[in-house]
Amino acid sequence: MRVAVVTGGSRGIGRAIALRLAAEGARVIAASRRPDPPEGVEGAALDVTDAAAVDRFFAGLGRVDVLVNNAGLAGANALDDAALWHAIIATNLHGTYHCARAALARMPDGGGRIVTIASVLGLRGVADQTAYCAAKHAVIGFTRALALAVAGRGITVNAVCPGWVATGMAERRWQELGLTPAQAAAGVPRGRITSPEEVAEAVAFLAGPGAAAITGQALPIDGGGLALP
Ligand code: NDP
Repeated sequence: MRVAVVTGGSRGIGRAIALRLAAEGARVIAASRRPDPPEGVEGAALDVTDAAAVDRFFAGLGRVDVLVNNAGLAGANALDDAALWHAIIATNLHGTYHCARAALARMPDGGGRIVTIASVLGLRGVADQTAYCAAKHAVIGFTRALALAVAGRGITVNAVCPGWVATGMAERRWQELGLTPAQAAAGVPRGRITSPEEVAEAVAFLAGPGAAAITGQALPIDGGGLALP
C-alpha cells in the first residue's frame, strides 16, 4: 500500500486531497497542528515550521511514497509586519523544505512523488501580498531545482498553482477585499470558483503512475486566469 503524507490535511484543499488519495487505496496521513482527519485518513499533529518535529514525524513513518506540501498561511501587508512576514515564509517555504528533505530520505527510488500547493501568486505579484508572493515564488523555484536533483532516482517533484479555491483562506481574503463570493467568481474567466476537489484531482494525477514523465512543473488551476487587485 502506498503511503501518502498531506500537510494541512485537516481542512480545505488538503482535506480534499487526503480524501482523494485515500479513495485510491493509499494509507494517507493528514498532518496539521490541530489534527482533524476526514474518515479513512489518519491524523497527526505536526507543525511544519518545526524542523526537528518534522524529522521525528517522518522517522516514525518509515516509508513515504507521496508527499503533498499543502500547509499554508496567507496574510496581507507583511511589509509592515515582520512577525507576519516570518510566519508566512516559515509555513509556506521552510515547511515545504523541511518536509521534502525528511520525506526524500524515506522515499523509495522509482515512483516517489512530491507535489506542492503553490498559488497563482507564485507566478505574479499582488501589492499587499509581498510575503505570500515571495514564499510561493520560492516554492516553485525549489520545485524546479529539486526535480532535477532527484530525477535520477525516479522521483518527480511538481507544483500546482490554484487561483481562488472555496476554503476558509479564500473567504478571509474576500472579506479583506470586500468581495462577495459571486464577485470573486466574476473575476474568473470560466465564471466560478474552483473547488478543493478539482485541485485534488490534479494532485492525484501528478502523484500517480501516469505522471512519471512530468517533473519540475508548476501547473495553474485557475479557471483561465484571475482578475486580482
Ligand atoms: P486553509 O486555511 O483552509 O487550511 C490550511 C491548512 O494548513 C489547515 O489544515 C491548517 O491546519 C494547516 N496548517 C497551517 N499552518 C500549518 C503549520 N505550521 N503546520 C502544519 N499545518 C499547518 O487553507 P487552504 O486549504 O485554502 O490552503 C491550502 C494550500 O493551498 C495553502 O498552501 C494555500 O496557500 C494554497 N492556496 C489556496 C488558495 C485558495 O484560494 N484557498 C489559492 C492558492 C493556493 P492547522 O491550522 O490545524 O495547522
